[in-house]
Amino acid sequence: MAPKDAAPPLDFIRQIVADDLAANKNEGQVVTRFPPEPNGYLHIGHAKSICLNFGIAQEYRGICNLRFDDTNPTKEEVEYVESIKADVRWLGFDWEDRLFYASDYFEQMYHYALHLIQTGKAYVCSLSPEEIREYRGTLTEPGRDSPYRSRPVAENLDLFTRMRAGEFPDGAHVLRGKIDMASPNLNLRDPVLYRILHAAHHRTGDAWCLYPMYDYAHPISDALEGITHSICTLEFEDHRPLYDWVLDNLPVPCHPQQIEFARLNLSYTVMSKRKLLRLVNEGYVKGWDDPRMPTLSGMRRRGYPPTAIRTFCEMIGVGKREGVVDLALLEYCVREELNKKAPRVMAVLKPLKVVIDNYSEDLVEMVEAVNNPEDLGMGTRLVPFSRVLYIERDDFLEEPPKKFYRLAPGREVRLRYAYFIKCVDVVKDPQTGEVVELHCTYDPQTRGGYAPDGRQVKATLHWVATAHAAPAEVRVYDRLFSKPQPGEEAEGDFRVDLNPHSLETLSSCQVEPSLAGAQPGSRFQFERMGYFCVDPDSSPERLVFNRTVTLRDPWARMQQAEKG
Ligand code: ATP
Ligand code: MG
Repeated sequence: MAPKDAAPPLDFIRQIVADDLAANKNEGQVVTRFPPEPNGYLHIGHAKSICLNFGIAQEYRGICNLRFDDTNPTKEEVEYVESIKADVRWLGFDWEDRLFYASDYFEQMYHYALHLIQTGKAYVCSLSPEEIREYRGTLTEPGRDSPYRSRPVAENLDLFTRMRAGEFPDGAHVLRGKIDMASPNLNLRDPVLYRILHAAHHRTGDAWCLYPMYDYAHPISDALEGITHSICTLEFEDHRPLYDWVLDNLPVPCHPQQIEFARLNLSYTVMSKRKLLRLVNEGYVKGWDDPRMPTLSGMRRRGYPPTAIRTFCEMIGVGKREGVVDLALLEYCVREELNKKAPRVMAVLKPLKVVIDNYSEDLVEMVEAVNNPEDLGMGTRLVPFSRVLYIERDDFLEEPPKKFYRLAPGREVRLRYAYFIKCVDVVKDPQTGEVVELHCTYDPQTRGGYAPDGRQVKATLHWVATAHAAPAEVRVYDRLFSKPQPGEEAEGDFRVDLNPHSLETLSSCQVEPSLAGAQPGSRFQFERMGYFCVDPDSSPERLVFNRTVTLRDPWARMQQAEKG
């Protein structure tokens, strides 16, 4: 029993691990693995599994392997292997020298298959794939035995050896486990263990034309690596009896325990790799690492800190019940982390020119700006102030409605860290009527942003000095989908719910000069505008930023407004 005032209760998987350790099961060892199939990039759902497997290993002084589950040569690629390694490392986990591939075990798996044949537990079946499906039965009807089920061992051995040798075309024969065609669990109705597939594999090349199925390869890989706790998602619960059957019928070194947990589902997000691949291939996004994608590479490019993703995975916890987590929770974790860490800077996304008529033309003053009010240890910097500035176009309205406190004709506001200014004139484009320039006066007494006479202003605006500012492109991202469950009302066609405004590119932004040399990946808060991150497309000549997340949650406010 845990003492009452101890740490929060363990989730059910950690409880199993802790109990096993207490009972000295597995000689007091904990060995887990993260087993991705290299058929796509990792997404935030995988992060849950990575944090769980590597996290448990860390907490219980165990080890966690990275194993590529590469048993399907037609969909797998080296590009995916490399991206997966980079993403696991980026999340902050280390498999040390324990990088494995299921394909490393093909030879051993083949010998185990011979063993199953010799012990009468497997047979070569020559039904066509359609016939196999027909014979399998349904949830309410038992299956029928294949006419090949009683093939003599010697004939099975001969055929299986020739299957490996490449004597047969794809689909001619399969190897099946001889279990129970009447089992209520369809997975136990003589499952296919091997299929013929004349396809080159990204690691074994043309060495094989016979490939093991997941349900056969996975338990063997786990056992060969001495895995103690084989953690997977709930859809494998019905496969567990088969997992155990494979291990019970083979002379494997150990018998890992399979434990299932509920996968992560996120609102406004699609997560299956098949769907993500379609988004990429059909051009709805620019690639797997498009900042709107729920992939780890997309989130990295967007500016999500890996620590925020780990915090998120901790907060959602691990359980057995399927549910949908609100995307706003992930965004909250990102915002919290960036609030503590990201330096503040000033950037004007939609510039409007302001001329301060009474400010000397050749004067440049350096004003002191705080880098992070949440962490004064991050110090201050000097920002140039001069007669011609840019402010945000949205911070001025010629005819302000009641609750608009920012700049308007005749009104005084504060320029952050600098002076009070007052709008005295508005210049418009004679053709379009668009406001193109404001004329203001400043009060020299208000340097630093406070009036000695105690006079107050209702708004503080950010700004940059035109002569010193660096031009930038800013990519403003919003949710990729506009419905919480994309495709829900269109028979799963998630494309109908794509948000047409998920990307807005602002190409004439102006940012303060301290950003001039900012390196790809660095993160900032643009004061009043949100959190932003330098994109890899950025160059010293043309800075490019991605909006990581807004300062507050506009969706929560919209929902509240709808309710209220
Ligand atoms: P997808 O369904 O997205 O294509 P997958 O399950 O086929 O994913 P794998 O490469 O086989 O992808 O997954 C590797 C590991 O990550 C597995 O153990 C799997 O259970 C886990 N995993 C995949 N998706 C999620 C998720 N949404 N939440 C938690 N774990 C997940
Ligand atoms: Mg899978």
